[in-house]
Amino acid sequence: MTRVRVLLFNSAVGPFDYSVPAGMDLPVGSVAQVPLGPRRIDGIVWDAGAFGAAEIEASRLRPVAAKYDMPPLSQPLRRLIEWTADYYLASPAAVARMALPSGSLFGPGRSITEYRLTGEPPARMTPQRQQVYDRLGGEQATVRELAAIAGVSEGVIRSLVSSGAFEAVEVPIDRPWPRPDPDHITPSLNQEQQEAADRLAEAVRRAEPVPFLLDGVTGSGKTEVYFEAVAEALRQGKQTLLLLPEIALTQPFLTRIEARFGAAPVPWHSGLKQTERRRAWNAIISGDAKIIVGARSALFLPYANLGVIIVDEAHETSFKQEDGVRYNARDVAVMRGRFEGCPVVLSSATPALESRVMAEAGRYEPLILTHRYGGAQLPRISLIDLTQDAPPRNQWIAPPLLAAMQERLARGEQSLLFLNRRGYAPLTLCRHCGHRFKCPNCSAWMVDHRLSGRLACHHCGHAEPSPSACPECGETDCLVACGPGVERIADEVAALLPTARRAIVTSDTIWSPEKAAEFVAQVEAKAIDVIIGTQLVTKGYHFPDLTLVGVIDADIGLEGGDLRAGERTFQQIAQVAGRAGRAAKPGEVFIQTRHPDAPVIDALVQGDREAFYAAETQARRDANVPPFGRLAAIIISSEDHAEAHEAARQAGAVAPEHDGFAVYGPAPAPLSLLRGRHRYRLLVHARRNVEMQRIIREWLQPMRWAPGVRVAVDVDPYSF
Ligand code: ADP
Ligand code: ZN
Repeated sequence: MTRVRVLLFNSAVGPFDYSVPAGMDLPVGSVAQVPLGPRRIDGIVWDAGAFGAAEIEASRLRPVAAKYDMPPLSQPLRRLIEWTADYYLASPAAVARMALPSGSLFGPGRSITEYRLTGEPPARMTPQRQQVYDRLGGEQATVRELAAIAGVSEGVIRSLVSSGAFEAVEVPIDRPWPRPDPDHITPSLNQEQQEAADRLAEAVRRAEPVPFLLDGVTGSGKTEVYFEAVAEALRQGKQTLLLLPEIALTQPFLTRIEARFGAAPVPWHSGLKQTERRRAWNAIISGDAKIIVGARSALFLPYANLGVIIVDEAHETSFKQEDGVRYNARDVAVMRGRFEGCPVVLSSATPALESRVMAEAGRYEPLILTHRYGGAQLPRISLIDLTQDAPPRNQWIAPPLLAAMQERLARGEQSLLFLNRRGYAPLTLCRHCGHRFKCPNCSAWMVDHRLSGRLACHHCGHAEPSPSACPECGETDCLVACGPGVERIADEVAALLPTARRAIVTSDTIWSPEKAAEFVAQVEAKAIDVIIGTQLVTKGYHFPDLTLVGVIDADIGLEGGDLRAGERTFQQIAQVAGRAGRAAKPGEVFIQTRHPDAPVIDALVQGDREAFYAAETQARRDANVPPFGRLAAIIISSEDHAEAHEAARQAGAVAPEHDGFAVYGPAPAPLSLLRGRHRYRLLVHARRNVEMQRIIREWLQPMRWAPGVRVAVDVDPYSF
C-alpha cells in the first residue's frame, strides 16, 4: 500500500497522510479529494514527509477519495509555495489556495451555462425581481455573477430562470487562444535597447534564472526591450508571465501587446467572469496560453512552462498584498524565476531602493537605458515655493502654474494636475461646534465625495449621504470642507479657466477597462484640456500633446515620516513628470511645495536620480533599516479594545531576546481602529543575518489567544 501526504486546502489542520486506493495513479503534485472527519475536502499530494507533520500508523490511514483530472503541480511551484509560506509566515494551505483559486477545480465539463434576460418580464413581479430588471441590462453571465451584479440572492435569479425570464447560453471553455507571433512586427531598436534586448533574449534562450533590473527613464523604451524577451520565449515555445500593477485598467497596454505580436494576451485578474477564468486557467495549465498578463494573483498559477517573468512598473506598491498572505509579488517573482529556471525582468523608471541595492550588490543584473526614445527630452522641472508664491485662500493652484496652464490652453496643448487625494476634501467639520466627521469603523476622517454626494471612508468603504446639518449641534449651513481633493481642484480649474474641458481621473471615475479606454480616446481626440488625477494618472499613459504637469502638493507624502516617504514621493513625482513632453513637444513640470530645500525635491529639480538614490541608500544603511536591516510588523487585533490590548501586552511580555533582534511596542497601530477592529502593533527590527522568521514563529506559535483575537504578521511591511 502506498501512503501519500496531502496538504489540505480549506482547513487549518494537516497536512495528513492517506493511503492510495488500488489502481489510482497519484504522483506528487496531484490534486485530490480526501476524507476529513465526515467531510470530503480538496488538497494537493505533497512530497513525502513534507512539513514534518506526525505520521499516522499505516493501519489507520484512510484512502484518498478521488483525483481531479488535471496535471500535477510541478516541483518548482511546490517549492515556491513552501518558500512563500515559510518566508511570509503564512500557512502553506493559504498559499496553495492562490495556486488553485476558486473555480479552478472542476469536473469534466467543456462549457459553462450563462444566462441573459430575454426581455419578457414574468407575470409575477416582486420588489426583488424588479431590482433584477432595474439593474441588469444585456449582461450575460453565470447565475452567481448575475446575482452579484443585481444585488439579489442566487435564488431570485434561479426562480426567474425557471419562469423563462432568462435564456441560457452554453459558453465553451476550451476554445483555443490565438497564437502570438514573435515576428509579427519587429521594431528597430536603438543601440542601448538592442544591447539590453539581446542580453534578455540570451537569458531566455539559455533558461538562466537571473533577475534583471531594467532601469530606464520614462519613455526610454523599456517595454519594447522586454517585448524581445517575450518574443524569444515564444520562439522557444514557452510562456511569458507579465505582471502589471493595475490590470483592470490597462486596455491600451493589452492593445499594444496585440499590435506587437498579432494576438491578444490572456488576461488574469479578479475581475474576470467565471467562464473567462476557466478558459484562461485551462490554457495556462495546458501551455496553450503563451502571453499571460496578470495582476499579482497570477504569480502563483500553475504555468506549464514559463520562459520569462516580467514585472512592469516593479516599484509599484500595489504589488504588495496587504491582507491574507501578505507577500510582495515583486520579490516572489524573483523566487519563482529561481525555482522555474527562467529570467525575471523588473522594469521601472524609478526602481525600488531594494532593487537598486540588489543590483549594486551584483545579485540582480542591471540593464540601463539612459535616454528617452527618439530624441524626446525629459521635461524641465521648476519649483513653486508656496511660502512665497501662495495661491489665494481656499485655492491650490499657485499663480505661476495657472499662467502656464493658460498658455497651454491658448496653444491647444494639454495640462495634467496631480494630487494624490480622491474626493473633494479629506475632512469635513462643523464651523459652529467643531464636530469632525469620523468613520464609525476606523480611526479615519470621512472624505467628502461631491460627485457622488457622499461622505466615504477610504479604509473600510463605509459611506453615507452628505449631511445637510451637523449631527452634533443640529445647525445647518455650518459644514466646512477642509483641504483639497481632486474634485475640488477640478472646481478650481472650472472657476479659473472656464473654457477648459476637464477630466477627473481616480478610481472613482475610472473603474473599468471601458472607462479607461474612453478616457484615453478623449484625450487623444483632444476633447480634454486639463486632466486632474491621483496616482492613477502617473502610470503608463503616453499623450503626445500633454506638455504641462503640475504637482499640487509635493509635501503630502513627506509628512507622516514613514520609512519610504522620501522614496515614494520621488517615484510618484518622477512618474507623473514623465507624462509630460513624451513626443516632439517639450514638457514642463511645476512642483508646488512648502519645503523647497527637501533633498527629494532638490533631486527632482536637478534631474539627479543618482544623488537621490545615493543619499537615500546611505540614510537607510545608517539607520540599519530595509534593505539593510529587516522589519516585520505584528498586528494584534480584536473587536474588543481591552482584549486586543491585553493580547498585545502578553505577546510583548514574552518577546524573545536575541542578539540582533529587537521588538518595539506594543503600541496602537497607525490605524488603531480599522473595520471595527482595535489594532495594536509590535515592530520587529532585525539584522540581516538573523533568522527573523524562525524566531517570530517560535515566539508566536505557542501563544494561546482569546477567541476574538487575530494576529497578522507582515514581513517586509510597506505601511506599518
Ligand atoms: P517606457 O516603457 O520606458 O516608458 P516605452 O516602451 O513605452 O517606454 O516607449 C515610449 C514610446 O517610444 C512609445 O510610444 C514606444 O512605442 C516608442 N518606442 C520606444 N522604442 C521604440 C523603437 N525602438 N521603435 C519605435 N518606437 C519606439
Ligand atoms: Zn472606515
